[in-house]
Amino acid sequence: EAGVVVLGAGQAGFQAAASLREAGFAGPLTLVGDETALPYQRPPLSKAYLAGKTDAEGLALRPAAYLDEHRIGFRPGLVAEAIDRAGRRLLTGDGPVHYDHLVIATGARNRPLPVPGADLAGVYQLRGLADADALKAALATCRAAIVVGAGFIGLEFAAVAAARGVDVTVIELADRPMARAVSPETAAFFRGAHEAAGVRFRFGAGLAAVEGRDGRTSGVTLADGTALPAELVLVGIGVLPNQEIADRAGLAVADGVRVDAFLATEDPAVSAIGDCARFPTRFAHGLSPDGTVRIESVQNAIDQGRCLAGRLAGRPAPYAAVPWFWSDQGPHKLQIAGLGAPGDIGVRRGTEAAFSVFRFRDGQLAAVESVNRAGDHMVARRLFAAGTPLTPDQAADPSFDLKALAI
Ligand code: FAD
Repeated sequence: EAGVVVLGAGQAGFQAAASLREAGFAGPLTLVGDETALPYQRPPLSKAYLAGKTDAEGLALRPAAYLDEHRIGFRPGLVAEAIDRAGRRLLTGDGPVHYDHLVIATGARNRPLPVPGADLAGVYQLRGLADADALKAALATCRAAIVVGAGFIGLEFAAVAAARGVDVTVIELADRPMARAVSPETAAFFRGAHEAAGVRFRFGAGLAAVEGRDGRTSGVTLADGTALPAELVLVGIGVLPNQEIADRAGLAVADGVRVDAFLATEDPAVSAIGDCARFPTRFAHGLSPDGTVRIESVQNAIDQGRCLAGRLAGRPAPYAAVPWFWSDQGPHKLQIAGLGAPGDIGVRRGTEAAFSVFRFRDGQLAAVESVNRAGDHMVARRLFAAGTPLTPDQAADPSFDLKALAI
């Protein structure tokens, strides 16, 4: 009996394993991962962990004893090199691992910075615990930092660094922060909040090179020739799905491992979940031509792990969870339900300091961004889950009772 093998011991892979046992799966279960730590949460790496408010133990999803108690065979520090689909084996440096069912949960890796000097000492990326430890150590003595990319991770880092008194400049090609992910209204709020905390922005700015002296970075040069000195450069320009191992095994990939509504690949013995998976969802309406998306979030990793575990334990159901996400930037909390896109029509509700933007696409509610307004976020998740329609006029009317609608 080979049982279920989960490739990738991150948020999604761990969840699939844990949920399989919860769902009553009694067969052999193996979790293979190339990192050495127990499966852990990444979100604190750019928040509480970076700020020194929690330690590595606080990141673990479960203590080691949990894996033993639930008979989850954990193989840390093991790189899978190939999938032998005909032989139903995962090929690793430590020999083959046989499977009846393989779950690909390989996550994503940081997009490399395509400019000269990207490999100088003092240039950091942030994905794993080792990255966070190196960055945290560098931050302790840093006076000036450059952040490349005004996405979630870059901005979370900027907030932590600025709070420590570091002089932070964020450079970004677009004209506002989080341009692909949030509405102009929400972007404007966070721009103002970061600026009030001392962070400087350079929008519409391309990076030409990372400069260095004796192998260490001394700052960056922008495309327009501007030189910005810094001892630390944090690159946050997005991620690429870890799909190569699936691709080489002949599985369909297209910015993610392609799966159907049940998170199955075209090989009935192989599924894919989490950051590495591209799947169909009603929330992709108007977002992608074929109605599929790839989502990088804890919610998606957990809910897909659960959904898949249900199927493997004999209770198949299509994946239909409502997407939601959060980002903590300084004292401000952003929560998003649904999937927004540039071009959505935004309707704002609330005050200057605590508001939500209801985003409509083709007249339908597509996403709700809540800034310091957790109540709206919970209501939004319920509206999406129930499919309850909301009109832009209702969203804009402060006297309209949203909570009552969501019950
Ligand atoms: P991962 O957690 O990346 O796990 C994949 C694992 O597979 C990794 O350990 C990888 O090394 C391993 N692997 C890959 N290939 C192989 C191989 N060939 N052999 C062996 N092992 C392999 N999401 C939110 O919703 N809110 C947040 O606030 C938030 N903050 C974040 C902050 C940071 C700094 C980062 C990096 C991410 C954040 N995210 C956040 C995103 C969230 O952490 C991810 O969406 C989630 O971790 C995805 O889980 P996953 O299991 O799909 O991938």
